[in-house]
Amino acid sequence: MDFEFSSDQLAVRDAVARVCARFPDDYWLERDQAGGFPHDFHAALAQDGWLGIAMPPEFGGAGLGMTEAALMMQTIAASGAGFAGASAVHMNIFGLNPVVVFGDAAQRQRWLPPLIAGRHKACFAVTEPDAGLDTTHLQTRAERQGDHYVVHGRKIWISTAQVAHKMLLLARTTPLADVAKPTQGLTLFYTDLDRERVEVREIDKMGRKAVDSNMLFIDGLRIPAEDRIGEEGRGFEYILHGLNPERILIAAEAVGIGRAALQRAAQYASERVVFGRPIGQNQGVQHPLAQAWMQLEAADLMVFKAASLYDAGKPCAPYANSAKYLAAEAGHQACQTAVLTLGGMGYAKEYHVERLLRESYIPRIAPVSPQLIMCFIAEKVLGLPKSY
Ligand SMILES: Cc1cc2nc3c(=O)[nH]c(=O)nc-3n(C[C@H](O)[C@H](O)[C@H](O)COP(=O)(O)OP(=O)(O)OC[C@H]3O[C@@H](n4cnc5c(N)ncnc54)[C@H](O)[C@@H]3O)c2cc1C
Repeated sequence: MDFEFSSDQLAVRDAVARVCARFPDDYWLERDQAGGFPHDFHAALAQDGWLGIAMPPEFGGAGLGMTEAALMMQTIAASGAGFAGASAVHMNIFGLNPVVVFGDAAQRQRWLPPLIAGRHKACFAVTEPDAGLDTTHLQTRAERQGDHYVVHGRKIWISTAQVAHKMLLLARTTPLADVAKPTQGLTLFYTDLDRERVEVREIDKMGRKAVDSNMLFIDGLRIPAEDRIGEEGRGFEYILHGLNPERILIAAEAVGIGRAALQRAAQYASERVVFGRPIGQNQGVQHPLAQAWMQLEAADLMVFKAASLYDAGKPCAPYANSAKYLAAEAGHQACQTAVLTLGGMGYAKEYHVERLLRESYIPRIAPVSPQLIMCFIAEKVLGLPKSY
């Protein structure tokens, strides 16, 4: 059992940190207030090859594993970029995993190089207003007409759709009533986000203003059959394949945002003098910070346990889910502790911790809620009856 990162892994972390250092807190504060996708940050990471960290080398990727990808995403969030920074590139890292694994050679050649080079941005369109976490009940319909499909439906919370060129879309091709199991009859596409046929309406939200989230109204979108990934009707299976990497990455980001807040709080606590001494000299201030550190470190162990199992090709779902749960809770708790440590200044935007707190809700909510993770552990690990 080795808890140390290799020198190559540490080099990844340090190189990503150097890119992030060019985008300080004030850059993210401005994005948080004015909005606007951080194109320059995305381009800086693309230029140094980081967007293809886990993509196959034959398409321009670095071919590294989940451990390195998690380290990269954690470093971005911990830099103070938080979820604004992480979500700006998150989809690049493992989002196209279904294409890598289930796409054919021509699709991989067509789609991966522009994504890795940063020329294409992609969004992930799964969640629907009337289905929520019950994904198999989504209602977006794709109907085959000759050499293409025609799609009608609605999606919600789709991140980066304001700037995306491409969309990974899950839609029903066989009605629920005609399939043996609800997981069947869903099909996955990777296609152009044709704004003539897809209206993208931004949702005004609590945090991460730089990275938009949207309602999509899809009205007669034509998708060429060659944009279908794998077989018709097996899209849910393909999406499931990417769930563990998705959970591990978001968990790594959650630890990162918690560390960003904790570091700012510890620094403030050692400098702010009240009653004749630094506030951080009081145990009432120290202990919650120490507790936040321990919770983040414990969650981090679960993140990298899940990542190393994934890299070794071993089953990792209980650990990937636990990592996402523990890291999201620990990240949020650290941000909340940071705000309270700064007192009134915790509420002031210029100290950045309130921005991090607002963003720290994201990994608690998405891509799956804490309740559903506990349902998964109860059922799959503890053998209890399925409850939902
Ligand atoms: C900032 C942000 C970005 C996002 N980006 C994307 C994106 O890019 N692409 C995309 O497809 N989606 C995205 N999402 C959507 C996200 O994945 C969903 O919001 C999330 O999966 C929860 O679904 P829901 O909001 O429909 O909640 P619902 O399904 O309505 O659930 C609401 C609450 O009820 C609880 N609940 C429901 N059923 C049960 C049960 N049986 N037992 C216990 N509790 C239950 C849930 O745990 C949850 O707390 C994003 C969301 C946010 C907030």
